[in-house]
Amino acid sequence: MKIYYEKDVNLDALRDKTVAVIGYGSQGLAQSRNMADSGLNVVLGLREGGNSWNMAKNDGMEVLTVEDAAEKADIIHMLIPDEIQAKVYNDQIKNHLEEGNTISFSHGYNIHFGYIKPPKNVNITMIAPKGPGAMVRKTYLEGFGIPGLVAVEQDFSGNAFEIALAMGKGCGLTRAGILETTFKEETETDLFGEQAVLCGGVTELIKNGFETLVEAGYQPELAYFETCHELKLIIDLIYEKGFAGMWSNVSNTAEFGGLTKRERIITPETKMEMKKILNEIQRGKFAKEWALENQAGSPMLNRLRILEGELQIEEVGTKLRKLCGLQK
Ligand code: NDP
Ligand code: MG
Repeated sequence: MKIYYEKDVNLDALRDKTVAVIGYGSQGLAQSRNMADSGLNVVLGLREGGNSWNMAKNDGMEVLTVEDAAEKADIIHMLIPDEIQAKVYNDQIKNHLEEGNTISFSHGYNIHFGYIKPPKNVNITMIAPKGPGAMVRKTYLEGFGIPGLVAVEQDFSGNAFEIALAMGKGCGLTRAGILETTFKEETETDLFGEQAVLCGGVTELIKNGFETLVEAGYQPELAYFETCHELKLIIDLIYEKGFAGMWSNVSNTAEFGGLTKRERIITPETKMEMKKILNEIQRGKFAKEWALENQAGSPMLNRLRILEGELQIEEVGTKLRKLCGLQK
């Protein structure tokens, strides 16, 4: 697999070009400021009166309406929430696209599932940092970056790939390395990861471990430390040194217990469900569910957010993180 580093990429494809970043949230702030600090011409497309409008202005960025930014720019980089991108694209961007422009994303969702259908005479590209916006900005300011993905769905100009890579370099991603992918692969693996492992899988694992200890009569504070707090230390070891590095850092007792019991926790049935979840993503079932949920005004998400907030582990965790100075 080819990985693109600093020396492999130059900013030429973006010289004399203007990049409009639409959105100034988690990714929009980080990516637009990194690109501006890297010497690229960056404007922001935001809604007047929104929080971001004032924030971006105070940060010294050039702020325009979404329409004006799309009109002015050669590259339009969509960094607003995925579920509203299609509407903003259709109402405020589509009519301002010129032949040879680039419409760019940090997640392939709307293009892959066909919610946004750009014309044939523009480039469709992706540059996606593999981490939250706060890390994109923090590591950049420290002189490094986080890894990223690059993809081209449609190459009208003949240099769409160079444009996307140059944006990645502007964001600092070539300092860690950029891997090539497709819109389909990025979208499907990203959704699977967040549902089965990262966001869904891990919270359910923590929750069940916590509840098992509390229901057996142990102090909730201890249960929290054992099943949640320490997870970060374990993940940090895996992140830096792999499974082997983690196993060699925990006690032999932990290693023996972990290796012999783990298959009773994540069972063949669990893996079967993972495959089903992946299949639902691949055939667009999840995307439909999410579209319907949004059309209905997010009733299920709102209800689940309330239930999540009422979990005992959240109450205990909030208290403990304050007491231990982990959270202000
Ligand atoms: P955010 O939820 O942080 O985006 C919020 C921004 O969108 C705000 O600036 C908000 O402005 C603006 N916004 C919302 N609605 C509108 C509108 N109708 N018109 C104009 N601006 C609007 O998004 P993320 O940064 O989380 O995600 C952006 C993209 O990056 C997505 O495609 C996501 O999948 C992708 N991504 C995100 C990652 C992450 O870590 N969050 C990681 C990798 C990719 P206002 O203040 O006015 O409300
Ligand atoms: Mg992701």
